[in-house]
Amino acid sequence: MEKDSAMNFKQELTAVFGKPVAENPTQPMIEAAYRHHRLAWRYLTIEVDPAHLADAVRGARAMGFAGFNCTIPHKVAVIQHLDGLGKSAELMGAVNCVVRRGEKLIGENTDGKGFVAALSSRMDPKGRRMVMFGAGGAARAIGVEVGLAGVSHITVVNRNEMRGTELAGLLESRLNLPVDFVQWDRTYRVPANTDILVNATSIGLYPDVRAQLDIDFGTIAPTMLVADVIPNPPRTHLVTTAAERGCTVIDGLEMLVNQGVIGIKYWTGVDANATVMREALLRIFE
Ligand code: NDP
Repeated sequence: MEKDSAMNFKQELTAVFGKPVAENPTQPMIEAAYRHHRLAWRYLTIEVDPAHLADAVRGARAMGFAGFNCTIPHKVAVIQHLDGLGKSAELMGAVNCVVRRGEKLIGENTDGKGFVAALSSRMDPKGRRMVMFGAGGAARAIGVEVGLAGVSHITVVNRNEMRGTELAGLLESRLNLPVDFVQWDRTYRVPANTDILVNATSIGLYPDVRAQLDIDFGTIAPTMLVADVIPNPPRTHLVTTAAERGCTVIDGLEMLVNQGVIGIKYWTGVDANATVMREALLRIFE
């Protein structure tokens, strides 16, 4: 019998390192794409204690991982174990996607790139004015990435003043972007000249699905694009209300799927099918 030259039991490896990580749904989303594109690749969900992060990265190198995602609590700590950073990861000071390029492990950040991919499919970000609620990790990633994509002005609205002014300062100093900070201590009225409105807080995340942003919803105009980072449930109060008011909306699930698409492109070079990935996540969230 002729030897089957296609026989190969060695799969290419990717993963997410985090702690806790058991409830992270990235594996089923990414592996749905691997199956769809007939890639002999695996994506493992690996719990890594902070004390073992250096060994885990060394292990990934030794075993030739094509790359891995980093989630809480490793997004900043992983940087010292890498060989270089992409531009936005360097600006944010946080990495959520490590990519092997030749012998080097390079840190990228796809949190904000997923958002910009969703935004750019609806409008050119260049010259737009954005209002963003929140100043945590998601807000930082979105702020940096929309700044690189050419928005002309950002208003950061946040409850905690220190965190808000720190993010505003970073965007101003590193991206040369005009930024206002507004402390969120009363019902926020959205300025009429706003083009893009983003919730980058955790308000509305499961299980607190009824939570609402403290906004005068009457000030949201149909010309505004409204986006929410909350992936579960995707139809948040903000998304539903904005859609009812005639706005173009982007939900957090799209942003999450886009991040996966970007990660797969980095690791495999393949343009993954976003619909297959979104359906895999919807099955889990439902
Ligand atoms: P952080 O803990 O870093 O930041 C949370 C932010 O939410 C802070 O600005 C905080 O304000 C604000 N916030 C929380 N609760 C309230 C409240 N009741 N009223 C006003 N502000 C509030 O979290 P992350 O930035 O990492 O994540 C935020 C959300 O983004 C999460 O729900 C996460 O699921 C989602 N996310 C989605 C992604 C996607 O791809 N769809 C990617 C990454 C994150 P303060 O500073 O005043 O405390």
